[in-house]
Amino acid sequence: MNPFSASATSSSPHDTQTSLGIDQPRLLLVDDEPRLLASLYELLQGRGYQLVTAATGGEALAHLARLRFDLVLLDLRLPDIGGHEIMDFINEKGIDADVIVMSGEVGIDAAIGALKRGAYDYLRKPYSREELLKTVANALKQRRLEQANARIASQLENSEKMYRYLVDSSPDIIYTLNHEGKFTFINDRAYQLLGYKREELIGQHYSILVHDEDQERARYVFNERRVDERASRNVELRLKCHAGANQERTFNNTLMTISLNAIGMHVPDQEVKRLEFYGTYGVARDITDRKRAEEVISYQAYHDILTDLPNRILFKDRLGLAVIQAKRKQTELAVMFIDLDRFKLVNDTLGHVKGDELLQQAAGRLKECLRKGDTLARQGGDEFTIVLPELRDRDDARMVADKFLEVLQEPFDLDGHAVHISASIGIAVYPTHGESIDELLRHADIAMYQIKGQGKNGHAFYDPSMQDVSHQKIALEQSLRRALENDELEMYYQPQIDAISGRIVGAEALMRWNHPTRGIVSPGEFLPFAEENGLMLPISDWMIGALCRDMLQWKNIGGNQVRLSLNLSPQYLDRGDFFEKMRGALLRYGIAPSQIEVEITENICIRNPQHAIEQLNKLGQLGVSVAIDDFGTGYSSLAYLHRFPVHTIKIDQSFVKEIHDEHGHYPVVLAIISIARGLGLNLIAEGVETESQARYLRANGCLTMQGYLYHRPIPLGRFIDVLRGQTLPAGVTNVLAFQA
Ligand code: C2E
Ligand code: CA
Ligand code: CA
Repeated sequence: MNPFSASATSSSPHDTQTSLGIDQPRLLLVDDEPRLLASLYELLQGRGYQLVTAATGGEALAHLARLRFDLVLLDLRLPDIGGHEIMDFINEKGIDADVIVMSGEVGIDAAIGALKRGAYDYLRKPYSREELLKTVANALKQRRLEQANARIASQLENSEKMYRYLVDSSPDIIYTLNHEGKFTFINDRAYQLLGYKREELIGQHYSILVHDEDQERARYVFNERRVDERASRNVELRLKCHAGANQERTFNNTLMTISLNAIGMHVPDQEVKRLEFYGTYGVARDITDRKRAEEVISYQAYHDILTDLPNRILFKDRLGLAVIQAKRKQTELAVMFIDLDRFKLVNDTLGHVKGDELLQQAAGRLKECLRKGDTLARQGGDEFTIVLPELRDRDDARMVADKFLEVLQEPFDLDGHAVHISASIGIAVYPTHGESIDELLRHADIAMYQIKGQGKNGHAFYDPSMQDVSHQKIALEQSLRRALENDELEMYYQPQIDAISGRIVGAEALMRWNHPTRGIVSPGEFLPFAEENGLMLPISDWMIGALCRDMLQWKNIGGNQVRLSLNLSPQYLDRGDFFEKMRGALLRYGIAPSQIEVEITENICIRNPQHAIEQLNKLGQLGVSVAIDDFGTGYSSLAYLHRFPVHTIKIDQSFVKEIHDEHGHYPVVLAIISIARGLGLNLIAEGVETESQARYLRANGCLTMQGYLYHRPIPLGRFIDVLRGQTLPAGVTNVLAFQA
């Protein structure tokens, strides 16, 4: 056992840390001669070294296995394990310790053998103190330098790895090109995004990646030579992806849009003192997603989401271009304004979802009528606009409009409901009807309104005389609000006649507006406005009061048996308190509910059937009867006749109008009559204008008539006159007339 070993080292037995650079250098002194080992120890002691001694080869190996040493002072000739073997051990185990061998004269060969095994130096015994100290100091100094170098080298290696890592894991494609435009470097991202392996691209010209249409642009940016602020920045290009590349990325099939920043790389040319271009460094960012989002946003900004048609903004743009072109080529163009008739009714009765569906279907049909170059757009609601550029003549536009009307005529299928609509089309022609976009649109709109006013389902070219009509419409809408306040509305009554007795059995109440300047305005002209402007409810409230007041006057002349029919607007039935209002008014005025019949159209029943059924049932329980107006023209099937408390059906005027010959055959009329008979319902024919119509109806079993043949709708005073004429014996008439 070595006498110094315990006291000579202060480090713990498990310390494997090198002392160099952190603590003191650790030295292992190996000599089998105790005296020499002791003098070596004494010589090095107190010089800032940690000293460990070994007197045998075995001891030395044990120390080397346990501790890390910076330097081993090794006597080559040892009794048990030789110095060479110790060095072999050091080399095999990769122990990072320098060795200074010490050898006597006899051991020269051995010393050379040790040097070959990587010993740092050789000290010939006996050595001088100075020589030894200097050699040890040199060895440690060199070692320190080497370790510092190694540290720097490893740091360098790490940082190179780090840059590589940063470059490869960059979300962007990073590349360098040589002066010929060929890839000299490209990061891993290229593979992930484009599907090309690095090896496939290195040495290739960048153009193999660029979409054909973008090659020209790529030439200016990809191989950028400039380095200053003029260098290419944020240039958008489309890159081709490798066929079958990463399918998960939803490239525009095989394209990816990038935003490219490129900058020239230059080395100073020593001889001519200028910068020599040797390549380009570029960063390409994948902006495919952003691009797609932008496309969607811009599509949405210029298209109507419901129908997928261009919206009014895009339409104006296209119209603007068409006008410019027409001006240059001196040709005509047509602008059409299409408004669907009865759409509002569908929306109100079937609901918005079905309304939207109808719009989609209608848009689809209109689209099919277009020629190349025509633009169909949705303006909003049920309004569409069309521009027909390069018109040969107006017949062109007329033909297109006819085609539109034709395709809309076919019934639309909305979940089993066959819905009929038509359209009103106004046409304005450039340059005759206007030279600017706005003028053309406005005039097409006015022409469209003209058609609406004339009973819809048709088309008209703009004419300056239409201006007055449209201005009147606007004025009408505003003055309707005042009509209620000023008490300008009045109920007229149209008698209903029993065909056998010729007596008045009922009367339909029809509203009139005594307009201060326009005279009497019919409901078809103002009730649609009222519906749209929320005036239907106050107007209906007013109507109930007016009707009850008027009925009191009938009672006075014995008209108790004459039934009153009133028209119920869908909006009003929709309102929860209609029933209460009605019952309250009847009570207040002492009118028997059995004297009242409400007329509803078939459409009323559909939107909120449950609510409608409830309301109508309550009315029925009260004793009020219900009539289906305009029977045969609505959307619904006959099913509701079983679900509603219906008492009467009114044959629509359009069917009655068909009757020209009292001996003819009119199956629709006959069918309606047999339905009424089969269900035990009252039947009223509306719009009876001729004797032969009356005779045909009577012959086939319809016994109640309403129409101009008998009476037009008349004001209360005249109606009472008429009533009185039939209820009282002649001669008393004058007395009662005085009362009225
Ligand atoms: P409607 O309920 O179908 O009323 C019958 C329409 O036919 C009335 O038009 C009437 O004047 C007209 N008429 C009657 N006999 C003949 C005839 O022999 N030949 C022709 N060509 N027409 C005839 P009016 O008064 O213009 O009313 C139009 C529509 O306005 C009514 O159609 C009804 O839907 C609505 N309406 C009228 N008054 C009111 C009302 O007080 N409230 C509600 N909600 N709607 C009303
Ligand atoms: Ca009616
Ligand atoms: Ca009717």
